[in-house]
Amino acid sequence: MSEIGTETDVLVVGGGIIGCSTAYFLARDGVEVVVVDRGDINTQASGVNAGSLHVQFQSFQAKRTDGDFPAYYEESTRLLSRAVTFWQELAVELDCDVEIHVEGGLMLAETEDQMRFLEAKIKREQRLGLDVHIVRGNEMRDLAPYVSEHAIGGEFCTSEGRVNPTLATPALLRGAVRAGARLLRHTELLTLTREKAGFVAQTDRGAIRAKRVVNAAGVLSPAVAAMAGIELPVVFGEALHMNVSEAAEPFMNHLVQHAGYPLTMKQATNGNVIVGGGWPAQLGPAMGPPRVLRPSIQGNLWVAQRLVSGLAHLRLLRCWTGVNVFNDGKAILGKVPAVPGFFMASTGIGYTLGPLTGRLVASAVQGKRDEIDIETFSITRLANHVSAA
Ligand SMILES: Cc1cc2nc3c(=O)[nH]c(=O)nc-3n(C[C@H](O)[C@H](O)[C@H](O)COP(=O)(O)OP(=O)(O)OC[C@H]3O[C@@H](n4cnc5c(N)ncnc54)[C@H](O)[C@@H]3O)c2cc1C
Repeated sequence: MSEIGTETDVLVVGGGIIGCSTAYFLARDGVEVVVVDRGDINTQASGVNAGSLHVQFQSFQAKRTDGDFPAYYEESTRLLSRAVTFWQELAVELDCDVEIHVEGGLMLAETEDQMRFLEAKIKREQRLGLDVHIVRGNEMRDLAPYVSEHAIGGEFCTSEGRVNPTLATPALLRGAVRAGARLLRHTELLTLTREKAGFVAQTDRGAIRAKRVVNAAGVLSPAVAAMAGIELPVVFGEALHMNVSEAAEPFMNHLVQHAGYPLTMKQATNGNVIVGGGWPAQLGPAMGPPRVLRPSIQGNLWVAQRLVSGLAHLRLLRCWTGVNVFNDGKAILGKVPAVPGFFMASTGIGYTLGPLTGRLVASAVQGKRDEIDIETFSITRLANHVSAA
């Protein structure tokens, strides 16, 4: 085990989409930055996710009525609309095609009850400025000829789409490195000690002195926050299941969801159909790799092929699992006033939000105003978040 011994202005903890995006924008602004990851980059949530660019409320989130969740989720949704156009703008700067494709998303209903749920959802979303409307009958069949007879209608959101996470996160990291960022793979942050001019970050490969630290550790961000005396009780992990079919000729150009069951489905650029949307996997010890559950394979594919019958004759290529990052409905971004120099970069729906939140956190680190005021996403909304200043 080598001793790395280094100094930097900003230490970013975590090489997922949020950490890589934050490093990209910091380095492009000329800020000295080191990214550490306890494993390799893009191997946790960011590398195993479905690549959906979400904008409309997901059905299971829209149905929640507990506490502040509905209001917080609406605030996150305001960021989502901007996040997709931000992805599109960013994609043209990157050094490879990240397979971004924005032709809209369709949430389908099989019953009149589900249609009524979508109508009520649309009213909430239109108040937030989303471009969403009901489609039925011939309008739906013309828009989406691949939809089966089980669907009686749906909600169409023009700004949804997909991106390929296995291409996009590494492209962002390469951009960050070209702009001067350093990446230390297989380097786990173990402790943080505050000193006058910043922090001493003790890793399993030696110490790093940093003036500022960004916590982009995904589902492990509560553990990294705790190293700075900060409590993050609202961030937690949930193990999720994913499937991918063999490749087919292009037949489905939208992100497809179900109003009543967990489902996301889209056809990737190479023709594979990626099916997920929230079916559970079994969490492993210490947030390790979760186990595939057979009912999730069966249930997820059953819902998918009910809506899109063209899927039924495709073979399942592979299943995988990952741990998603959840919170109280909205991101936790920016400075932690009680711990000067420590910044939060934590969010759910994080692949869609990744580049935009990276940009916003990079600006916060530099004390710059950005196009979006992130005050509402401050950790200060959590009472007693500082356990030891
Ligand atoms: C199966 C699945 C499907 C999903 N589908 C979608 C989707 O379609 N669309 C969407 O928008 N979102 C989706 N998500 C959510 C999205 O993937 C996550 O919100 C997002 O990737 C989180 O990014 P992150 O950078 O915060 O975390 P991560 O990608 O988990 O990265 C955090 C990194 O921090 C590192 N780390 C942790 N602790 C330390 C430490 N002490 N020292 C050093 N490194 C450390 C980890 O090794 C990890 O690489 C999905 C998630 C899952 C699991």
